[in-house]
Amino acid sequence: MPAKKSPTPIKKKATAKKAVPRKVARAAKKPAKAPAKTIAAKKPKGRRRPVGAEAVHEIFTRFRKANPEPKGELEHVNVFTLLVAVVLSAQATDAGVNKATRALFAIADTPEKMVALGEEKIRDYVKTIGLFRTKAKNVYLLSRELIEKYDSNVPPSREILETLPGVGRKTANVVMNMAFGEPTIAVDTHLFRLSNRIPLAIGKTPLAIELGLEKVIPAEFMQHAHHWLILHGRYICKARRPDCEACLISDLCTSPEKTI
Ligand code: SF4
Repeated sequence: MPAKKSPTPIKKKATAKKAVPRKVARAAKKPAKAPAKTIAAKKPKGRRRPVGAEAVHEIFTRFRKANPEPKGELEHVNVFTLLVAVVLSAQATDAGVNKATRALFAIADTPEKMVALGEEKIRDYVKTIGLFRTKAKNVYLLSRELIEKYDSNVPPSREILETLPGVGRKTANVVMNMAFGEPTIAVDTHLFRLSNRIPLAIGKTPLAIELGLEKVIPAEFMQHAHHWLILHGRYICKARRPDCEACLISDLCTSPEKTI
């Protein structure tokens, strides 16, 4: 029997390769581009930017509405005792300082009385506060300097205040704001953290934050701005666990630490 002829293979008429122009074929091999909205949803790369002017205005409008007259929490009976309380408050809580100063200010509420008390006794009154030895010495020395150079008055000048023992820019700013009504921003640890978090102003030093905030906070809010921010940082936007559920500006905050 003659061997069966294997069927003649059917010639393919035209391959897809030939039919499709090269350019199109090349394009088909390329991975499809992600839709634009997928890209937009990605986490933005690069440096963070402060929230815009509109958001800053809204943030302070809400702070003002919630607390029109914010107050500092350091107890004092006059400008001199305010200055002393702020000097004592460095790296200490306001509550801890108040506990010590109630008795101290009851007997020494002027530079003369403080000097008469003497450094050793001042130290006894403030020994529950951190760094009390240095602070007691500074309180004694600044009281003496106020008597000798400024007629026992606290000078209404940030530059002069900064020359007093134990008084830095933050302390001077608090006194200028609370005692003399100047629209200064005193950058403490809360304010530094909060400003970088939201962010309102971004900076690596308290001075950079202070100058940055002065640029972006509208004048109408400047007088109370640092109190609003300090109180918000102390009670809501806390260092370890910000209470974002209770935060009245959560929709405006762009912090990666935000929990909602
Ligand atoms: S949303 Fe959270 S992280 Fe942002 S400011 Fe409020 S408490 Fe702070």
